[in-house]
Amino acid sequence: MKNVKAILLIADGLGDRPIKELGGKTPLEAAKKPNLDRLATEGECGLMDPIAPGVRAGSDTSHLAILGYDPYKYYTGRGPFEAAGIGMHVRKGDIAFRCNFSTVDENMVIIDRRAGRITSGTDQLAAAVRGMKIDGIEVLFKESVAHRGALILRAADLGAGITDTDPHHEGAKILKSEAIDPNDPASARTAAAVNEFVRRSYELLKHHPVNRERIAQGLNPANIILPRGGGIGPNIESFESEHGLKAACVAETGLINGVARYVGMDITEVPGATGGLDSNLINMAKAIIEQLSDHDFVLCNVKGADLGGHDNNPQAKIDMVGKLDEMVGYLLANIDEHTYLALTADHSTPCAIMDHSGDPVPIVFYGEGVRTDRCNRFDERSVTAGGLGRIQGVDVVKILTQLMNVQQKFGA
Ligand code: ZN
Ligand code: ZN
Repeated sequence: MKNVKAILLIADGLGDRPIKELGGKTPLEAAKKPNLDRLATEGECGLMDPIAPGVRAGSDTSHLAILGYDPYKYYTGRGPFEAAGIGMHVRKGDIAFRCNFSTVDENMVIIDRRAGRITSGTDQLAAAVRGMKIDGIEVLFKESVAHRGALILRAADLGAGITDTDPHHEGAKILKSEAIDPNDPASARTAAAVNEFVRRSYELLKHHPVNRERIAQGLNPANIILPRGGGIGPNIESFESEHGLKAACVAETGLINGVARYVGMDITEVPGATGGLDSNLINMAKAIIEQLSDHDFVLCNVKGADLGGHDNNPQAKIDMVGKLDEMVGYLLANIDEHTYLALTADHSTPCAIMDHSGDPVPIVFYGEGVRTDRCNRFDERSVTAGGLGRIQGVDVVKILTQLMNVQQKFGA
């Protein structure tokens, strides 16, 4: 049997709306992109609603959907994906949180939610709080970049229906976590553990040598850890057991790596993949080709276009399309005829909105046997001439696996 493989390339936030300064074109329409247009010409195109028509998708919920997992069933909050994204193993039933190292005064009033955007020493601070037990609950904590980290509370019968301790602005006192539903003892137990974790983090960190040093330098000490966005680890089947495809992920952000790790994909570090506009996309393309040698499926997320949208910077988006085009050129030159390539976005991030919108995004499937259509340009409006019509995120892997001819038949 031939060795069929697939690449699913997701340009984060690529979709946009017509922009006056671009003569009414979207950045994708305004950009030069011969390789993307070649994909459109030789492939099958259409529009995709990442979650459903009009739903404003987050990157995490959208990636879940595009990988075939209904986010309304599997997305329980950002915490589990953040924790997975920094390499923590989130198990079913764990309550996971994203956390900030913050600065409080002795009255528990927030002085700085990001502890002076601390850049070093958080590994030592994390070590100081790691391994504690609270009321029989196992506490796992890991630092991430800058002032960020993630917390896992592990025990049977914990609930995630709790309020945050982080008041989200400076000058306010930290809040007491409580169960949202007073008749939910599992969540009440979690809330009590969170309050105790926050209290103990202050006790353990306030005189820590890292913080003594920061104070001596006139910097805000990272003297407390505030968890938020708690969610329960869902019961989720791995991508490999769902589709029979050994999968890897090439991505730049912890959030996407978190989603990928969650569904059992192997994670790759790529030198020069910064997650910014300066990211080295050719290195990412090389990593994809490398991963294809021992995986059947590679998911790749390129972040840059989303930043251009959030910053209302159409030119940055146009520049990212140019880099993406070079990347696709590299991929086309280095894949064989048994490799499929799907290119799409996880949502639109229109410059005018400076955030994610519910507009659908263009998608193209390229590879042996696809039904080539009348579309010959890869952009938001040209793809409406394509053969796919308008599909949803959860359709994407189904369409890919049937093209690859690796899908089980439904029925006789
Ligand atoms: Zn995104
Ligand atoms: Zn975004």
